[in-house]
Amino acid sequence: MKWFDRLRIRHTLRHHPIPFGSWRRLMQEANIFRGLTSVERAHLRKLSTLFLHRKAFSGAQGLTLTTDIRLAVAAQACLLILELGLDYYDGWVEVILYPGTFKVSRDASEDGVVSRDDGHLAGESWQRGPVVLSWATAAADLAGHQSGHNVVVHEFAHKLDSLDGSANGIPPVHSGMIREHWTHVFTGAFDALRSQLAHHRPHGIDAYAATSPAEFFAVCSETFFTAPATLQQQFPAIYEQLVLFYRQDPKNRLAA
Ligand SMILES: [Zn+2]
Repeated sequence: MKWFDRLRIRHTLRHHPIPFGSWRRLMQEANIFRGLTSVERAHLRKLSTLFLHRKAFSGAQGLTLTTDIRLAVAAQACLLILELGLDYYDGWVEVILYPGTFKVSRDASEDGVVSRDDGHLAGESWQRGPVVLSWATAAADLAGHQSGHNVVVHEFAHKLDSLDGSANGIPPVHSGMIREHWTHVFTGAFDALRSQLAHHRPHGIDAYAATSPAEFFAVCSETFFTAPATLQQQFPAIYEQLVLFYRQDPKNRLAA
């Protein structure tokens, strides 16, 4: 890192701190952050501060963006890259929040779209463009209304998936991981889920995962961070690959 980058980071951390009360409330109330060590929390706070400074947040349809709203999105987004680094979110700047689910005029089958409400979207992630979210959905997910659901994790997982050019369910894997193994494991689990759905057999993860390999990776990431025991039980090999990719083990910390 160049010296002026280091200087800029230090300046941001010193002059744009996250209000202590907002941070403490979020860490105490949201289950997704449960079990993080004090060192991990401090690191998450640093990443969230830089994220809030580097990304441009805007509220659509009259939504007023409070500190708590921005922080809830930033901290959840940064949980995915806690052990990866903020440069995993380079190449785009905008986060747009709608008060509720929203309608877009584009083809709703494009990569990155989450649709759970008759053509209304809860979130979408544009290739090299903004992340768009329904705050009502994000707030309900943060409160843990539906196990395994988290639209913020979902859309930011698409961002990681798109890092190598296309959202295809294969993010750039780290050295020491084997891309062919990732593909083999994810393809097998994706086919198994589709077969379970076709035979109306019970399954642990959101059926939206069966839409495409990209959605499968995004939904598995949601389940990984919010209901890790369910994902590990259903697809242990996927869980193992996600531990290697995200370099963290939510099941261990949530069980603590
Ligand atoms: Zn999606």
